Order: sequence, then structure tokens, then C-alpha cells
Amino acid sequence: MRKDLIIIGAGPAGLSACLYSVRAGLDTLLLDNFPGGQVNNSGIVENYLGFKSILGVNLSNQFLEHILSLGNKIVLEEKVLKIEKLEKHFKVFHTDGEIEARAILISIGTKCKKLYVEKEDFFSNNGLSYCAICDGALYRDREVAVIGGGNSALDATLFLSNICKKIYLINKNPIMKGDQLLFSSVSKLKNVEILYNVQTEGFLGENKLEGVRIRDKITGATKKVECEGVFVKIGMETKMDFETNFKLETNTKGEIIIDRENRTNIDGVFSAGDSTNIEFKQIVIAAGEGTKAALVIFKYLKNQG
Ligand SMILES: Cc1cc2nc3c(=O)[nH]c(=O)nc-3n(C[C@H](O)[C@H](O)[C@H](O)COP(=O)(O)OP(=O)(O)OC[C@H]3O[C@@H](n4cnc5c(N)ncnc54)[C@H](O)[C@@H]3O)c2cc1C
Repeated sequence: MRKDLIIIGAGPAGLSACLYSVRAGLDTLLLDNFPGGQVNNSGIVENYLGFKSILGVNLSNQFLEHILSLGNKIVLEEKVLKIEKLEKHFKVFHTDGEIEARAILISIGTKCKKLYVEKEDFFSNNGLSYCAICDGALYRDREVAVIGGGNSALDATLFLSNICKKIYLINKNPIMKGDQLLFSSVSKLKNVEILYNVQTEGFLGENKLEGVRIRDKITGATKKVECEGVFVKIGMETKMDFETNFKLETNTKGEIIIDRENRTNIDGVFSAGDSTNIEFKQIVIAAGEGTKAALVIFKYLKNQG
């Protein structure tokens, strides 16, 4: 069976593209092993038009419900492992089989950046998390550390301040780089201690996380910050975790380079949302880009005959 379009990634970009593509009459399949995207972990969203304030997970459920109402075979909860470009179409290999399509839309968003320091992988999901909203409740009334110096670190700290006894905010820079309003809210919190100019060197503990080893960038002294949980919030990066038999053009940040019509350097492969070199990463922008991509793909497939 050959689809008109396979969309990889069911965040706002992929879901929105799917809506327009199905409504335009294209035989579409949306693949994602964790549908909903980053919105699932976004806490409260207050800047999506039509919703004054909504929990991210509720917003993403509403997005998904809308798509599922178009037909129950549109979304397949599988991870894409490989895309092969053949002469006039593509073959997509996923965790439960393979399927062909005339065009591909990549809307895989971004993933949390890692620190790449000692014992980071060892403690991952066992004391160390990249998502405060997902795992914060595990550390109720405990001492934790948040590592990072921008909005996502501030967001996580604010969120955890209602749950945890104490939060050490570990920042390698002399200032916090996030929004002033957000910073001002965090600096008023009694249970938050911000450590500036400190580099995270690794995580401590045998089988259970016991703390973070940090180095003061000015004095060179190292010390242990004792805590039972750590949240690494140092930003996001685009990472394609599937193979391709073609070379997609990306920039130095790993973002897929697209033109104004969401075309990549490969004929028939389009991209939209946070995974692209579009500057601003927001739900409404991802949704708009997904919509535009679907309309362009519709025209592209019509011209192919
Ligand atoms: C903590 C946090 C708070 C935020 N708050 C806001 C906010 O208040 N307002 C706002 O506008 N924006 C906010 N954002 C940003 C917003 O969530 C993103 O800009 C938006 O979700 C991007 O949508 P997307 O569809 O491009 O990608 P994503 O939402 O990242 O979705 C990508 C999808 O691709 C899937 N995928 C990846 N690889 C594969 C594969 N190999 N096979 C199958 N599927 C795959 C993933 O599982 C994921 O579901 C926030 C982000 C974070 C992290």
C-alpha cells in the first residue's frame, strides 16, 4: 500500500499538517511513538490563541482528539527507524513494519540537550531527569538541583518550587539568561538558591544519586551539591534518530534547512516546526508551519500527477 503522505512526528506541526492533508483528500499516515510532542510536557500554556490558560497535556489531548476524529487509521503509534528514497517514492521503516509514500513530512521537533558529563547516562531516569513536569512529583519534599541558565531552567525551578523542599539552581554563567519576569518570580522564592559561575562536572553516588559535583569557574574549587534529584534543563536540539539513504541538509545546530515552502534539499521531503531552521520555537508557529507544509505538499503531489 502506498500513501500520499507520511508525516513523522505528531507534535503541533505534524498534527496540524495532518489535519490539512486529510481534509485536502490526501491519503495520510502520521507516525509517532509518543504522539502529542513537547506540548505534553509544557506545563501551563498561556499563549495559544483561544485558550487563556490551559495545561499543555490537555491542549495536546485536544489536538490529538481532533485528528483522531478524522479517522482511526490516521495515526500509528510507532517510531520511525529508517527512510529510503526510491526512484519515485519513499519507503519508511518503523517499529512494526514498513510503508511507502509519495511524499514525506519530517516534524520531529527537538529533544533535550545532554551535558555529557560523568555518570549522566547512569543516573538518567534514576535520579536524573530532563523533564520537571514529568518527574517533579517523585521528589516531593526533597532537595533537588536544576542545571541550566535560561528559560527552561527557570520554568522548571518555578514548577519544582511548589513540590520540593529546596532547589539549587546551578548556572555556569554569571547571570541568568531567561525572561526578566520569570527570573524575578524565581528570585523571590525562599526555597531556591542560585549558584552562578559553576560548571557541572558529574553526578555522585554509587547506585542512588547523592549529588552533583560542581567546579567554581573563578576559584577552580570543586564541591558537592547534595541532592536526591537533578533536572538538566540546558536547552533543546534537533536529533534525527532514524537512518536515511539520502543526506538531508542541516545547519550547525542540527536543524533541517527548509525554504519558505518547507522544502528540504531532497525532492519530496518536507519539514516543519521546531526541527527546522525557522527561528522561533512556539506551538502556534509549529502549527502554522505544519499547515503551510501540508498545503505545499498537496500542490506538489497534484503537479506530480
Ligand atoms: C517545557 C516546555 C514548555 C513550553 N512552553 C511553551 C508555551 O507555553 N507556549 C508555546 O507556544 N510553546 C511552548 N513550548 C514550545 C513548544 O512546545 C514547541 O515549539 C512545539 O511543541 C513544537 O512542535 P513540533 O510539532 O515542531 O515538535 P514537537 O512538539 O517536539 O513534536 C515532535 C514529535 O516528533 C516525534 N518524533 C521524534 N522522532 C520520531 C521518530 N523517529 N519517529 C516517530 N516520531 C518521532 C516526537 O515523539 C514528538 O511527539 C514549550 C516547550 C517546552 C519543552
